[in-house]
Amino acid sequence: MTDICGAPNVITDPLELRTYECDGLTSHRATPALVVLPSTAEEVAGVVALCAEHGVPFVARGSGTGLSGGAVPHSEGVLIVMSRMRRVLEVDPVARRAVVEPGVTNLSVTEAVRSYGLFYAPDPSSQVVCSVGGNVAENSGGAHCLKHGFTVNHVLGLEIVTPSGELTWLGDGTGVVSGYDLLGAFTGSEGTLGIATKIIVKLTPAPEAVHLVLAAYDSLEAGGRAVSDIIGAGIVPAAIEMMDALSIEAAEAAVHCGYPEGAAAVLLVELDGPAAEVEAELATVHSLCEKAGAREIRAADDPVERAGIWAGRKSAFAAVGRLSPAYIVQDGVVPR
Ligand SMILES: Cc1cc2nc3c(=O)[nH]c(=O)nc-3n(C[C@H](O)[C@H](O)[C@H](O)COP(=O)(O)OP(=O)(O)OC[C@H]3O[C@@H](n4cnc5c(N)ncnc54)[C@H](O)[C@@H]3O)c2cc1C
Repeated sequence: MTDICGAPNVITDPLELRTYECDGLTSHRATPALVVLPSTAEEVAGVVALCAEHGVPFVARGSGTGLSGGAVPHSEGVLIVMSRMRRVLEVDPVARRAVVEPGVTNLSVTEAVRSYGLFYAPDPSSQVVCSVGGNVAENSGGAHCLKHGFTVNHVLGLEIVTPSGELTWLGDGTGVVSGYDLLGAFTGSEGTLGIATKIIVKLTPAPEAVHLVLAAYDSLEAGGRAVSDIIGAGIVPAAIEMMDALSIEAAEAAVHCGYPEGAAAVLLVELDGPAAEVEAELATVHSLCEKAGAREIRAADDPVERAGIWAGRKSAFAAVGRLSPAYIVQDGVVPR
C-alpha cells in the first residue's frame, strides 16, 4: 500500500486507526486493519486491485457523517478514505456542469460556482462537511429536495473503480441514459458497487427571487393542514419543513434562532424562482397559512435573515444532543 499511496498516507498506528472506527452511527464501531488516503483515481484503483488480489475486504469513506453505518470499517480490511481527493477539477458554466473529486465537501461545490450565478442543489444538513462521494453513495437529499430533487437527479456521470480495481465511467455527462441506468443504480448503492473517483454534477441557475415564510401554530395538526393546503393549491415550495415544540425548544437553546415562544409547531416554507412567480405564490402561501390558524407569520427575503431562520431547523439534529447524549435518528414518512 505504501508503494501505491506513499508511506505518509498509510495509517497503521492503532491509536490513529481508532479515529476511523465509526461514522455518524456511533453505536457501531470497528477498528480497521489499515487506513489509506489515496490522492488520485489511479491510486484508488491500485489499492482496490491489491485488495481484490488478496481477498481483503475494503470500505470507502468520505467525511464519515453517514447515519446508516455505511463507512464502518471491516476489522480485517482496508478503509479507503477519500478526503484528500477534494478538488473541483472543472466548471463549465455554459453546459452547467462541474467535474469534482469525491472528497470535496457538498457546500464547496456551490462556493466554487456561485460567481457564475449557479449552485449545486442537493443540500443535506451536513453539507458543510459531508463529501459529494458520500452523497452519491447515499443518494442524499436535503430541505430543498422537494422541488430540486435528490443527488441522483444532479449526477451526470461517474468515474468509478470497480470491485476488481478497474477504472471505468458510468454515464456520459449529459444525464441522458439509454439502456440500463447504471449511473442511477450506482447512486444510492452505499459504496457496495464500487468507489466513485470523479463526479460530473449538474449545476442549477440561482433563482431570481427567494422568499422564506415562517408560520407558528398552536398545534401540529394545524401546521400539517397548512402543508396539505399549500401542496393542494399546486404550489411546490423549494422547501417545506415543520418542527414540533421539543425540537423548537432544543434549537432555541442551541442557536437562539428566535422562533415564536410557546409555539406547538413552526412551519418553514421557502419559495424560489422568477420574481413574479414567487410574489404570486407568496400571497397564496400567506393566506393558506393564516387560514390554517397561524398565530404568527413572518417573511424574509434577505439572505442573512433567511439564514438566521433556517439556522434553527438546520441545527435541530445537533441541538437534540443537548437533551440526551444518545439518541437514534429515524427518517419517517407521514402521509399528508
Ligand atoms: C448533522 C447531520 C445532518 C445530516 N443531514 C442529512 C440530510 O439532510 N440529508 C441526508 O441525506 N443525509 C444527512 N446526513 C447523513 C450524511 O451526512 C449523508 O449520508 C452524507 O451523504 C454522507 O456523506 P459522507 O461524506 O460523510 O459519507 P460517509 O459517511 O463517509 O460514507 C457514507 C457511505 O458512502 C460510501 N462512500 C463514501 N465515499 C464514497 C465514494 N467516493 N464512492 C463510493 N462510496 C462512497 C461509504 O462507503 C458509505 O457507505 C446528516 C448527517 C449528519 C451527521
